[in-house]
This record gives sequence, C-alpha cells and structure tokens, in this order.
Amino acid sequence: MSENDNSVVNQTNYDVVIIGSGPAGYTSGIYTSRARLATLIISGTLPGGQLMTTSEVENYPGFPSGIFGPELMMNMRQQAERFGAVVTDDEVIKVDFKKRPFKVTTHSTTYEAQAVIVCTGASPRKLGLESEQKFSGKGVSYCATCDGPFFRGEDIVVVGGGDTAIEEATFLTKFGKSVKIVHRRDSLRASKILQQKAMENQKIEFIWNSEISDIQGDKKVGLVSIKDINTGNESTVKAGGLFVAIGHEPNTSIFKGELDLDDRGYIVLKDHTRTSVEGVFSAGDVHDHRYRQAVTAAGFGCMAAIDVERWLSEQKLR
Ligand code: NAP
Repeated sequence: MSENDNSVVNQTNYDVVIIGSGPAGYTSGIYTSRARLATLIISGTLPGGQLMTTSEVENYPGFPSGIFGPELMMNMRQQAERFGAVVTDDEVIKVDFKKRPFKVTTHSTTYEAQAVIVCTGASPRKLGLESEQKFSGKGVSYCATCDGPFFRGEDIVVVGGGDTAIEEATFLTKFGKSVKIVHRRDSLRASKILQQKAMENQKIEFIWNSEISDIQGDKKVGLVSIKDINTGNESTVKAGGLFVAIGHEPNTSIFKGELDLDDRGYIVLKDHTRTSVEGVFSAGDVHDHRYRQAVTAAGFGCMAAIDVERWLSEQKLR
C-alpha cells in the first residue's frame, strides 16, 4: 500500500466509481474529479498498474528525458487526488450492474455509483505448464524490469517474439551471462528497431520454431526443455531464469455475465467508451488490444470521463 492510501473510505455513494489505477484509471479520475463529480478510484491489487513494473518510460509525451514508470504513476495518482478523487487500495471482487445505482464490492465495502468506468487493464499471459506454476517466483518471472537484477551471472531464457520479449531480453543482458530467446515461429513480431538491437547483441541467441515443454530444477529453475515444433525434437538448456513475455489477458473475470465480452475476454464497446450496460464505461487495455500504450490508455481514460460527465447530465443525475 502507498503512503497516500485512503483504505478507510467512509463515503460509500459516488457519482462515479473507477475500477483500476493504471494510466486509464487515474486519467479518468483527474477528469471526473476536476469536473466536480464525486469520484472513487479502487486501485486493485497492483496500484498504478503495469507501469509500476516498468523501468524507464521514454515515449510518454512531456518527459523529454524519460520518466520511471512508478514515478509517472505516483504523479498521476497525486494529480487525481489534488482535484478530490478518493483512492482506495482495495480489490473489487464483485459488481452488480443490473440496476442503478450500480454496486461495486471490494474485500471491505460495497460502494454505490451512478456511473462506473472499468479500467482493469490486462495481465501477463501464462504458458500453461504445470512446472511454470511450480517455479513461479522461483526463477519463472513475467517482468524483467522487476526481477532482472536477481539473475546476475545466470543463463536466462526468454519466451516470445513481440516487443516485450525482445525489449526484456535486451534488458536482461545487463545481468545475465547469456540470454536465449525462444520463439514459436521463424520471424519476430517485434518492431524492427528492437529486433536490430537484439540481433546485434552478442549475449543474445535466438531459438526459432520452438516452444518450452518443461521446466525443471530443485528449489529454483535449473533446466528448461525446448521442443522444436517442426521436428518434435526436444533439447534441454541450463537456465537459472525463465522470463515469459507472450502477451496479456484482459482482467475481466468479475465482469462475466455483467458486460458483453469478446471471445478473448476483452470488453466490447457499443459506442466510443460505452459498454453494453448504459452507465458503465471502459478505458484502456481492458478493451483495447490494438494499441496498449500508456498514452492511449490515458487518452481513453479522458474520453470515458467526458462521456460519463455528459451521460450523467443527460440522465439528470448531476
Ligand atoms: P504481443 O505483441 O502480443 O506478442 C506476444 C508474443 O508472444 C508473440 O510473438 C506471440 O507469438 C508469442 N506468444 C503468444 N502466445 C504464446 C504462447 N502460448 N506460447 C509461445 N509464444 C506465444 O505482446 P507484447 O510483446 O507483450 O506487446 C504488447 C503490445 O505492447 C504490443 O502492441 C507492443 O507493440 C507494445 N509494446 C511496445 C513496446 C515499445 O514500443 N517499446 C514495448 C513493449 C510492448 P506470435 O508472434 O507467433 O503470435
């Protein structure tokens, strides 16, 4: 919990409850509280969202020398609080969007809201191996910037072929003895500039058309089994760490049966930021699987807040 935590929130009725505290959640909160709407932001299990596990952010406008992810998120939080938004570091476990006021239940309280903005983002996708779960936190990681320094001098395996995998592999060469990138195809999805940087890095080796079939070790990861998809041949490499960077899944399990979701679980929008339930809006990675950037999430947060303000006024609820 942060120093500014307002876990004890006495008020339970709000004009708008924002679920999630990434760039979308905090930006929504800045706009709704500045518009004088009584605003509660429920931060979720990772206050600040995915950027809390990032090192330097170089592409968020307004910071020509870059800014650290956690610092950017603390700034956004303080900016929302400055205009009166209440932030509570709690997790939503249930919602009831059947009638208004909507009910949003956390571990400690049930809140009522005339409007809700869902900004719950997305979480790292898993490989789905039993051994992955067994060694999670014991050599298997989903965040190089968080855990990289623990793997000094180790041989490291990274799975994935997107921007995250390539960026993380490059970052991990600062700590690891060697970094092997295992990718299921023979070409990368990552942007050319990141690809080039990784290909020029002497510590990085690519293992193409392959997948991880098993992870072994004693107390922590020691060996990773890799299967060639074309031949079926399996080989085992020594590795002290396995970083899984194969994309994300939207955090929408609590909205099943309440909001329309697509076949991958992303929130389906009817019109701009409106969801299938009138009065419930959505912003950021929880519906946007195309752009997934901090700045686009913040942009969606702004749009959702403006839509909420207009909708509440149309409904004569404000
Ligand atoms: P992504 O672009 O969806 O890439 C996921 C990668 O994992 C793909 O290469 C995919 O393989 C592979 N993959 C998916 N499921 C797999 C499985 N079950 N087993 C093995 N491999 C699997 O995800 P991302 O790299 O996290 O990037 C997400 C978004 O953030 C993208 O839009 C990206 O551009 C952006 N991003 C940008 C930056 C930057 O600009 N610096 C940094 C990080 C992320 P296939 O290629 O075969 O599908």
